[in-house]
Amino acid sequence: MAERQVERNVFDKVMLPIYAPADFVPVRGKGSRVWDQQGKDYIDFAGGIAVTALGHCHPALVAALHEQGEKLWHTSNIFTNEPALRLAQKLIAATFAERVFFANSGAEANEAAFKLARHYAVTRHSPYKTKIIAFNQAFHGRTFFTVSVGGQPKYSDGFGPKPADIVHVPFNDLAAVEAVMDDHTCAVVLEPVQGEGGVTPATESFLRGVRELCDRHNALLVFDEVQSGMGRTGTLFTYMHYGVVPDILTTAKALGGGFPISAMLTTDEIASVMHVGTHGTTYGGNPLACAVAEAALDIINTPQVLAGIGERHTLFSESLAKINQKYNLFTQVRGMGLLLGAELSPEYHGKARDILYAAATNGLMMLNAGPNILRFAPSLVIEFDEIKEGFSRLENAIESVVKQ
Ligand SMILES: *Cc1c(COP(=O)(O)O)cnc(C)c1O
Repeated sequence: MAERQVERNVFDKVMLPIYAPADFVPVRGKGSRVWDQQGKDYIDFAGGIAVTALGHCHPALVAALHEQGEKLWHTSNIFTNEPALRLAQKLIAATFAERVFFANSGAEANEAAFKLARHYAVTRHSPYKTKIIAFNQAFHGRTFFTVSVGGQPKYSDGFGPKPADIVHVPFNDLAAVEAVMDDHTCAVVLEPVQGEGGVTPATESFLRGVRELCDRHNALLVFDEVQSGMGRTGTLFTYMHYGVVPDILTTAKALGGGFPISAMLTTDEIASVMHVGTHGTTYGGNPLACAVAEAALDIINTPQVLAGIGERHTLFSESLAKINQKYNLFTQVRGMGLLLGAELSPEYHGKARDILYAAATNGLMMLNAGPNILRFAPSLVIEFDEIKEGFSRLENAIESVVKQ
């Protein structure tokens, strides 16, 4: 306890006060287990925030990092590098895409996507074709353009004038999109499953309808799969589940399995408006990041791993249903694959964080999505007995919160 207090005091003194970290400090992880400074173990149902899709320190990722780490760390984009070329080719082979841009975070991939969508419309169609249609509760990152396209004013207000010509409508409401869609629209931007905003999957008819509206008005459809991509929902990317193909797709979180990397995928035609110097980044396509992401993609994009996500989804759903039978805690459990949200019933509204803290006390890491939703985003290869152990710890945590 004393040690924890010291760490917390240091944090409060030296860090920008934008986070409220748990009062333990993780120091080691293996698979879906994490240990803190005191040696206490935690089952990981969070995976960072849907990042460590193959668990902690997966041997193949460690090997890729180690191997590349002894070869070449960085070149800048004045040169290309072998891991980036290999990863780009594999992403293209696995998706609709013909072109790839690498960056370091979800926000950066989205920033590139939004700039590309605007630039494409402005150069191909008209200087006035700049409207971006986005959704309430959407989350696209923390740069100023991405918080502005995101649909949560608490993240975008208080920083002065915002990028203009961005319209927000309710998610899964096709009529609302149709009402604001016109020929000045350059793009519709959405998460196929809204993550931070509450783990809300798009309906199939909504995605199909938005695709048709985009085609009718020469607007691009941008899927932010930063959280939903790389196997998270049971297919390599979530658009594959719906059979609705975007024009631009971004992915990040699980792409590097914990090593920072993101990618924006698009077609030859759309990419053709970009020229040397139109956009760029110092670190994007870094050899270390690309080598690790290549190893992650090689493992995730296999029938065994993708099929295993469905089996784990079932165990999670059944376990949540069992808890609900006993405590009547949730009004709804939703989500796809291993991105699940359990909405707390009204009497527990505002308690998501309390449950998270109680879970940590009982040796379980998990997430919330707002004050009323528990979120689960474990490793895609979490062991079944780890899931069971995690749920027994969650039940202890809930027991302690319910008693309060
Ligand atoms: C996490 C997230 C982002 C932002 O990614 P960063 O790496 O934090 O910049 C963007 N979009 C979605 C859907 C996300 O879940």
